[in-house]
Amino acid sequence: MKIFQQDPELAKFYQSELERQRTTLEMIPSENFVSEAVLEALGGVGTNKYSEGYPGQRYYGGNQYIDQIENLARDRAKQLFGVDHANVQPYSGSPANQAAIFSVCKPGDKVMGMSLLFGGHLTHGWKVNFSGVYYNAVQYQTGPDGILDYDELEKLVKQERPRVLFCGATAYPRLFDYKRIAEIVHSVDGYFIADIAHECGLMAARVIPTPVGHADIITTTTHKSLRGPRGAMIMCNGKTSHPLKPLTEDEPMRENLPTLIDRAIFPGLQGGPHNHTTMAIAVALGEALQPDFKIYAQQILNNSKALAASLMNEGLNLATGGTDNHLMIIDLTNLGIGGKEAELALEEIGITANKNTIPFDKRKPFDPSGVRLGTPALTTRGFKEDEMTMIGQLIAKTLKNTKNETVKDEIKKAVLEMTSKYPLYPDLKYV
Ligand SMILES: *Cc1c(COP(=O)(O)O)cnc(C)c1O
Repeated sequence: MKIFQQDPELAKFYQSELERQRTTLEMIPSENFVSEAVLEALGGVGTNKYSEGYPGQRYYGGNQYIDQIENLARDRAKQLFGVDHANVQPYSGSPANQAAIFSVCKPGDKVMGMSLLFGGHLTHGWKVNFSGVYYNAVQYQTGPDGILDYDELEKLVKQERPRVLFCGATAYPRLFDYKRIAEIVHSVDGYFIADIAHECGLMAARVIPTPVGHADIITTTTHKSLRGPRGAMIMCNGKTSHPLKPLTEDEPMRENLPTLIDRAIFPGLQGGPHNHTTMAIAVALGEALQPDFKIYAQQILNNSKALAASLMNEGLNLATGGTDNHLMIIDLTNLGIGGKEAELALEEIGITANKNTIPFDKRKPFDPSGVRLGTPALTTRGFKEDEMTMIGQLIAKTLKNTKNETVKDEIKKAVLEMTSKYPLYPDLKYV
């Protein structure tokens, strides 16, 4: 407890955060609990080292062991996803997307992505984001049922002819037809970037289909369902990278995507990689390659189905009518409350979730009509279908009684009892 000895005021805050994580139900679909091995890696000596460049091609000395770590991380990523190339240096998902665009676009090129209001990500062309400011952004949306309409998408792509098409989302409870999307984008000679930030863990375990073989570039975070540290990766197929040498005029871009991506990350966008994070990514990828991880990922899906069924059984509506992945969005319209009130009521009973727009939302984005829920974090803690059914009932009761303090107090007790059955980092303490 070095922080405590040196800085007790700060240590107290960290202990409180640990207690919060232990005593609440974490249902934000982009969050998870890393293993103690990943935590150890993150707190390690990698943070002390500068290593601009790539293994074997560094601008600093003393990188012989960092090279081994980064090579192992890259090899594990390639093995896990079945791709030719992986860059593990992006600082997080947003910079990874920035680099992916930068690798194939000039400023002002046309970038297309799903609108934030329909589940897409800021970095896919939202107007106030770099992707909407420095590029000519066009946004697509879902059909009236909340599901992507591929015929409409095809029409829009043929009309707009984007240089890049993003497919991927933060709040889309269904699977994407990557084959169809690839055909659509490639028909106008555009690049297909699949952003699998959310579902990455499910794809690593092959419990849902992957975009490998369809997308030109795949970006992902490592801290969501993959259960690693905060970080990101960019993957693609193509020729072996010679990252620090510019392409010559006659070298075709598509076959040289590894080089373009590596150059976009460094020196295009970033300086030194975060080596403690690279170390932790390697640990997490090692975990994801174990047979246990397949069981974990399947359980995320089973839990998601059980939760969705329970919520609908209680009379709640889900956007798109259900889920095929790890997340779902409750449509609060028939309950007569907004997302802000719902998020707050859930927080009061010990469930962490976030408000979210529903497709064609009639309310404002800062107080939308939905709440988003996901199962990766609770699945890590050990929750199974029976508990998910019960949690669905508790959530429904809370949302139907947001102003009833007595009911909420009872539910809060039930939540606390559930969390105490699944200890989190039992040996960890900061104070
Ligand atoms: C989370 C997410 C990102 C961004 O990741 P950060 O690490 O928060 O920058 C990008 N794309 C999608 C689809 C995401 O869900």
